[in-house]
Amino acid sequence: MRKILIKQIPIGPFQVLTYLVACPQTRHSVIIDPAGDEDKLLTLIQTEGLRVKYILNTHGHADHVLGNPKLKDVLKIPVCMHEAENSFFSHPEVREKSSRELGLPPPDPADITLKDGDILEAGTLKIRVIHTPGHTPGSVCYYVDGNLFSGDTLFVGTAGRTDLIGGSLDTLIESLEKKLIVLPKETRVWPGHDYGESPTSTIGREMAENPYITDFILS
Ligand SMILES: [Zn+2]
Ligand SMILES: [Zn+2]
Repeated sequence: MRKILIKQIPIGPFQVLTYLVACPQTRHSVIIDPAGDEDKLLTLIQTEGLRVKYILNTHGHADHVLGNPKLKDVLKIPVCMHEAENSFFSHPEVREKSSRELGLPPPDPADITLKDGDILEAGTLKIRVIHTPGHTPGSVCYYVDGNLFSGDTLFVGTAGRTDLIGGSLDTLIESLEKKLIVLPKETRVWPGHDYGESPTSTIGREMAENPYITDFILS
C-alpha cells in the first residue's frame, strides 16, 4: 500500500478529530470535518504545501462543521455532505432541536451533495463515499487507500450515539454490518473522536473487540 499523508488534529470544545488527507505526489488534498481552529489548520496547510480541493463532512453535527465557513471562504473550495444530511438539516424544526441539543448553530447547506458510492478525486487519491446512516440520517464514512474516516459512526471500541435527533440504533447497526465490517480487516479506522484506547484502529480489531459489532452483529 502506498503512503498517503494523513494528519489527525483534535480540535474544539468537543475535541473532534479533524483530518487532512493528501496525495503524496501532487499535494492535492481534502479536509475532513474542520471543527474550528481555522488559523491553525490554514498554517498547517501552508507548511505542508497542500492544495486542498474539498471540505468533506462526515455528518452535519455542529461541532464537526464549525470551521466550514471560514475555510470555504479562504480556500475557495466547496463543502460536501451526503444528500440526506443536507435535506435533513434544512428542516427548521431539525435545525432548532439540533442547536438546542449541541449548543452550537447547525450547518449551512452543502455546495456538493454526495451519494453512496460516489468517488471524489484529489490528485491520485480516490475517495469513496460510504453512506452509513444511524448516528444521523446522512452520516457517511470516507474510504481512501485502505483508510476509513468513520466520523461518528464507528469509534475505537464503541459507536456513535443514537439519541440525538434523527438517530437510530437499528440503522446504525445495519450500517456497521452491511457497509463497514465487509471492508478488508486491515483497513485503518480513523474516527471522529478519540473515545477509545488509541486514536486509530482497524476493522479487524473492531470486529474482535467492539461490542456494537461483537454483541449486536456477530453473536
Ligand atoms: Zn455527531
Ligand atoms: Zn462528533
